[in-house]
Amino acid sequence: MTILQSIGKGRYLIRKRSSNLHKYGSSNIPGSTPWDAHKILLTMGHNIKVDAPMIASYVNGNYNVELYADGTKIRFNDKDSLIPAFPENMDVCITKKCDGGCPYCYEGCTVNGQHGFIGDYVETIEEGSDPEYATYYYPFELPHWMQSLKPGTELAINGNNMDHPDLEECLKALRNRGIITNITINQRHLAQNFCKLVDWQERELIHGIGISLSDATDNFLEVALNDLDNVVLHVIAGIFTADDMMYLQAYKTKILILGYKNLGRATEYSKKNYHIIMQRIEELKANLPMMRGLFEVMSFDNLALDQLDVKNVLFNNNEEKWSQFYMGDDGGFTMYIDTVAGKYAKNSCMSEEERYDIGSKTVEEMFNHIRELYGKR
Ligand code: SF4
Repeated sequence: MTILQSIGKGRYLIRKRSSNLHKYGSSNIPGSTPWDAHKILLTMGHNIKVDAPMIASYVNGNYNVELYADGTKIRFNDKDSLIPAFPENMDVCITKKCDGGCPYCYEGCTVNGQHGFIGDYVETIEEGSDPEYATYYYPFELPHWMQSLKPGTELAINGNNMDHPDLEECLKALRNRGIITNITINQRHLAQNFCKLVDWQERELIHGIGISLSDATDNFLEVALNDLDNVVLHVIAGIFTADDMMYLQAYKTKILILGYKNLGRATEYSKKNYHIIMQRIEELKANLPMMRGLFEVMSFDNLALDQLDVKNVLFNNNEEKWSQFYMGDDGGFTMYIDTVAGKYAKNSCMSEEERYDIGSKTVEEMFNHIRELYGKR
């Protein structure tokens, strides 16, 4: 039996059971958070053929993964469940330094914020040589946990000002290991980093680019959407307005709707602006059915699914349809790393008590810990 679910435009999601084959696929939007694996996809396509080159294929636990350049991901095995051994996607905070000054910044980034440890140049001499006469060289070495990443894993990192001094070397080292890195940048930093982004995409240092929307009327957005590949616009429920939506619809682009996180400066902002945030969330909720036709792909993180009551609004609480689209809870196939604090967690919303030291752990060890804690095994 093959079940195809299609309620939007441009991508597909399919669950296929045929001759003991369990095939599960979804569009996974490059350039956004690892919660992509947990989003709803609004699609109208009904053709399972993927019109994009495959960029990764690997075995994870008891299933296979195929990842395509347009962000489509297919998971499949001959079993009744998919049990991963390592995360498919990781949300990685690499810096808390940013001059954006957004009053709703949930990471609490400031101009005095710290950069995270994402690798270093390590003094090295040829093994067995006399240190007095040996030639020293300084290769860039990734942190231990990054060295344990499996090829094909997707990382979603925050760019902020794009001035982390080790970022480019880190991206090169990740690319050389077959890791697919997507970066998120706020629109206010886009123009000044545009050439760098184009260059990094050409050199395959980054794959997708998430642009956090700050001004829907800025003409440069059109330039970015035309000249950069694999772009997804990130909008925050409670910040994103109906007017923004009217501007953006002209681009027929991909959008990822993120829930409003009551963390960092966003806590204070929501206290002061509670009514307007709630009003915008209600407006967005009311507009969702109409919006599905306006964008190439519309997706959500899990927090937005809750805040916008998407299961009810778009699926009328139909369990069968919902099961075709819901990609699972945070921590099931994804996790979060904060390289500034040296911590890992289920997602970036977790309290201090639910963030754990990376120490010398491998990615697999951290992921298994997360899955044990949150009942995924
Ligand atoms: S641009 Fe992003 S990281 Fe910087 S302050 Fe704004 S929300 Fe925070």
